[in-house]
Amino acid sequence: STSLALYFQDRRRKQLEKRFEPRPIEIRCDEIIHGVAGLIGNTPLVRINSLSDALGVEILGKAEYLNPGGSVKDRVALRMIEDAERQGLLYPHTGSRIFEGTVGSTGISIATIAKAKGYDTTIIMPDDVAEEKVQALLALGAEVERVRPASIVDKKQNLARDRAAHFGHPSNPNTRPSMIRTSTSSILVSSSAPEEILDERHGILSVEEQDELRRMPRGFFADQFENRSNFEAHFFGTGPEIWRQTSGRVDAFISGAGTGGTISGTGRYLKTMNDDVLVVLADPEGSGLYNKIKHGVMFDRREAEGTKRRHQVDTVVEGIGINRLTHNMELGLDVIDDAFRITDEEAVAMSRYLVQHDGFFLGSSSACNLVACVKLVKKMGWKNGERVTTILCDSGSRHYSKFWNDAYLTKANITVRTHLIDDLLSSE
Ligand code: PMP
Repeated sequence: STSLALYFQDRRRKQLEKRFEPRPIEIRCDEIIHGVAGLIGNTPLVRINSLSDALGVEILGKAEYLNPGGSVKDRVALRMIEDAERQGLLYPHTGSRIFEGTVGSTGISIATIAKAKGYDTTIIMPDDVAEEKVQALLALGAEVERVRPASIVDKKQNLARDRAAHFGHPSNPNTRPSMIRTSTSSILVSSSAPEEILDERHGILSVEEQDELRRMPRGFFADQFENRSNFEAHFFGTGPEIWRQTSGRVDAFISGAGTGGTISGTGRYLKTMNDDVLVVLADPEGSGLYNKIKHGVMFDRREAEGTKRRHQVDTVVEGIGINRLTHNMELGLDVIDDAFRITDEEAVAMSRYLVQHDGFFLGSSSACNLVACVKLVKKMGWKNGERVTTILCDSGSRHYSKFWNDAYLTKANITVRTHLIDDLLSSE
């Protein structure tokens, strides 16, 4: 028994030695970051082990949920704000206010950076998005205006910009910077004084519009849909990072599109580096983009009769899917090779599958992207270590009240069926 005790003593000592043995660790945080903006970008590219092992293909996700504002939108918000500062549209600590129409993520990113830079934020958002996003915005000190999406579209058909109607953005040459209108208010979006704009628009505006203009609060409309800085955040950020992280060995990039910034910017960069990289859209139900890619038109008339459009449904998958072509989408439309339509049920199944197998707790658009990854691999017949990259846009914690809420899903007629993913993985 003494020898047995000695044996255990020895084993324990060896275990301890092993635990404290200096291991070669790659130190990545070798500098001090100044403020929250320094934490944005340079996200890890992570192998999704369950899917990769099952497919024999490397499924790699860009962990964008690790950004300080919790989503891929931090990159876009930072670039939009800093570009506006360079253009003289925003001056820090002078009471400037940033306005944005968003389903949440972009607003949270803007509010986060705005506080650090000395701006106020007003976010105009539809009234059907997950409540925790509103809570996050309020906690970050943003003003929130909630609007009924369909009613904006009904009332101002020709001005409809999904969530907030407006008259253009400085970076879009087809329109002039001026103002945004929501269901309840109009906001002057320009660094020019109302008088200058009135001069400039002499004879164009009616007397009522001139009065309205004088009364409007001033601010900067970030306008992620039309603002080119969105595309550039990905063209100069996400794209090059993926290229570097894969050492240029990448066969496909898959993304959903809300504004289109991610797929256009990242896709165009990767295509520029290697024309053979497949750029593929993951489109949720109710979105018109799938048809645009596959058939050249947003809505097939026959199909549109039976199917509800994006703004008419209480969307389970948030952040992606749209029924018009934004400037940021147009900047990359020609590099998109293929598209998959992903059902809400498939996205829900994938999200649960990933928690069960990998411990990844992700939001709805990430789940859509990963379903599309599997579908692409199956369609291409890949099984020899090809590399498919995608975006893990945000975490499941942004989605407790809808996508990650079983009672809500039941009401929305969605059954959680993880085996859908097993079936998809084992299909030929
Ligand atoms: N996922 C989430 C959670 C989002 O909020 C968004 C942006 N609305 C996207 C994906 C889509 O990205 P993009 O706007 O670049 O098309």
